[in-house]
Amino acid sequence: MLNIIIFGPPGAGKGTQSGLLIEKYNLNHISTGDLFRWHTKNETPLGKKVKEIMDSGNLVSDDITIAMLKEEVEKHPDVHGFLFDGFPRTVAQAEALDTLMESMSTAIHGVIELKVSEEEVRARIAKRKSIENRVDDDEDKLNKRIEEYFNKTVHVLPYYENQGRLKTVNGIGAIEKIFEEISIVADSFEVAKS
Ligand code: AMP
Repeated sequence: MLNIIIFGPPGAGKGTQSGLLIEKYNLNHISTGDLFRWHTKNETPLGKKVKEIMDSGNLVSDDITIAMLKEEVEKHPDVHGFLFDGFPRTVAQAEALDTLMESMSTAIHGVIELKVSEEEVRARIAKRKSIENRVDDDEDKLNKRIEEYFNKTVHVLPYYENQGRLKTVNGIGAIEKIFEEISIVADSFEVAKS
């Protein structure tokens, strides 16, 4: 298996790069944000529980998030690998993920940080908004998510950095160029694990 985490702030282009990565490396994409959105949209008991907190742009508790992630991973025991997106966002989640991978006799082989500064993310979002010419009802929520990322989520990075599992890629530039760099990093994870 090849298991990778993609990391980056909202608006960094993580969605686009994740799509390219899962195709090239035949990975199963697990986005906790997408899973939570599915639950809220379908009004499942879990969805009802997390709706308010998601609407506010805050993070869902570790217990709930880890349980949902674990269930999703365990549904796919025979895949070639996983691309984790939006998870982990806390050190407790990172530790739980390592334990889960270990229980499957595998590991997180590396973390790709798509580096875009807070300033750049805000500039991109403002540009997108002016092009699309729409009033964004979700602006407060988006601001909150950006804040969450730069104030809280980034603190997970040293966990991986200290173990030599973190690689940073510059997230500014053409999509193809960024993906070329990401591919070099993913190839290095593949080589290192064998
Ligand atoms: P995202 O699309 O990844 O930004 O996630 C959307 C929302 O889902 C976040 O603002 C959180 O409320 C929740 N969420 C997603 N992933 C996590 C996570 N790993 N831990 C806690 N909350 C999460």
